[in-house]
Amino acid sequence: MPNVREIIDIASGLNEKDKELIEKAYKFAENIHEGQKRMSGEVYFTHVFETAKTLATLGMDAQTISAGLLHDVLEDTKITEKELGEEFGSEVLFLVNGVTQLGTLKYRGHERHVESLRKFFVAVASDLRVVVIKFADRLHNLKTLQFLPEEKRRIIAMESLEVYAQLANRLGMGRLKSEMEDAAFPFAFPEESAQIEEIIKTKKELYKKNLSEVKKELEKELSKNKHKVLNITYRVKHKYSLWKKLIKREMDIEKIYDIVALRILVADVEECYRILGLVHSIWKPLPGRIKDYIAIPKPNGYRSIHTTIFTGLGGIAEIQIRTKEMHAEAAYGVAAYFAYKEQSGRKNVDEKLKFKWLEELKGLNYSPEESSKYIEHLRMDFFNDRIFIFTPEGDIVDLPEDSSPIDFAYSIHSDIGDHISGAKINGKMSDIFSKLKSKDIVEIIKKDNSHPSGKWLVHVKTTVAKKHIRSYLEKHSLLSRLKSFRRR
Ligand code: MN
Repeated sequence: MPNVREIIDIASGLNEKDKELIEKAYKFAENIHEGQKRMSGEVYFTHVFETAKTLATLGMDAQTISAGLLHDVLEDTKITEKELGEEFGSEVLFLVNGVTQLGTLKYRGHERHVESLRKFFVAVASDLRVVVIKFADRLHNLKTLQFLPEEKRRIIAMESLEVYAQLANRLGMGRLKSEMEDAAFPFAFPEESAQIEEIIKTKKELYKKNLSEVKKELEKELSKNKHKVLNITYRVKHKYSLWKKLIKREMDIEKIYDIVALRILVADVEECYRILGLVHSIWKPLPGRIKDYIAIPKPNGYRSIHTTIFTGLGGIAEIQIRTKEMHAEAAYGVAAYFAYKEQSGRKNVDEKLKFKWLEELKGLNYSPEESSKYIEHLRMDFFNDRIFIFTPEGDIVDLPEDSSPIDFAYSIHSDIGDHISGAKINGKMSDIFSKLKSKDIVEIIKKDNSHPSGKWLVHVKTTVAKKHIRSYLEKHSLLSRLKSFRRR
C-alpha cells in the first residue's frame, strides 16, 4: 500500500509546511480518485503516487511533488480549477493546469507534428517544473504500457522517444531520459530491443571481468597516495543508447568500448585531472578517445572526463571521472538545482547551473543566489514571439503573437478562412477579431454567406491570411465593378 511517508522520506530539504502540503495533497488525491482504476487493474491513485515519488527522487520542491499527486484531478475528476486553487494555492494550480494542457497534445507521426510538438512543449512549459511533472507522469505510464491496447502502445512509445526523452536530454536530465527510453524501447522496436537485451546479457559479465582487474589495480595505486576518491562503480550502458550507438558503428559490437564503464567519483574538479593523470600513467590511453567535458561541457550541461585505455590484457575499457555534483547534474539536469537549494554556501554554485542553451535562449546570465529568483527564470518563454493554438482535435498551430481567429482559420485552410463567421475560444463564442493567447483551443465557425472584408486586414498577423484576404477582395471588387458596368 502506498504511504505518504515514502514520498516525504525520499524528498530532500522539506520544512514542516512543505510536509503538510504534501500530506494534504496526498489525502486529497487518494479520496478524489477513490474507486477509479487503471488499465492495469491497479487503483488509480497508484499512478499519481508513483509520479510524485519520482518527483521526490529528483529532489523537486513541495509544490511540484504536490502537483504530481494532483496532476490528474482536473482531467479525471469533478474538481474544478477554482476548487483546486482555493485548496492548494495558485502555484500548485498553475502547475496542475500546465500538466493538464500538455496532456491534450497528440502525436500524429508526421515530422511537422513532432516539430510543433517540440516547440509547443517548450512554449507551454512556461515553468520547467510542469515538464518535469509530465516526465514523471509519462515514465509511470510507460512502465505500465503493457496494459494498453497494442496499437496505442507503439504510438506512446514512439512519442516518448521522439519528444519526451529528447527534451529531457536537452534539459540535461540524463536519468529520466534513459529511464523513459529504456521503458519505451521494447514497445517501439520489439525485435531490436530483444537483440540488444541479448548482447548485453552475453557481453556484460565479460566486460565486468575485464574492468574488475582494472579496478583492483587502480585501487592499489590509489591507496599509495592521498586521493580524494569517493567511490568506483560499474555503469552498464542503457539499452536504447547502446542500440543507437550500434547503428552508428555499423552494428559492429566490437567497436563499442563502453557497454560497461568504470565510473570514478571524486571530491573536486582538481582531483578529476589528478586521477586522469594517474590512470594514464598506469594504462596507455587510446588516442582520440580522451574527452574533457569538464573544460568543454556538452550543450546540455553534461560534465565528466572520459578516457578509453588499453587494459594490457588485450582489452579496452572506458573510464569516467567526475565529481559528485557533476554526477547529480548528469542525472537530474535542471532538476539538480532543487536538490541543492538547501545547501547554501557551496562553491561553484553557478558552475553547476550552466545550461548554456537556456541562457542563450533567455539572453540572461543568472546568478542564482536565491531559489525564488531561479524559479522565476525557470518560468521561461522560449518563443515569446510565437503562440501555440489548439484545434479541438488537439492539433497544434503555431502563430505569431496577437494573431486572431482569422489567422488561425487561414492557417488551416483558405476556404475556412474565407468563410469564417465566428470562433469558439476555449468553448466560448468570441469575436473573430479577438487576440489569441497561447494554449487557447479554437473552433472556427463557418458560414457560406460570410466573406472577407477590408477590415479583416487590420486584424491579421500572418502573411498567408493577408494574401488570401487581398486576393479575395481584388477578385470580388473586380466582379462587382463588372456587374455594375453591365447594368449601365
Ligand atoms: Mn497521469
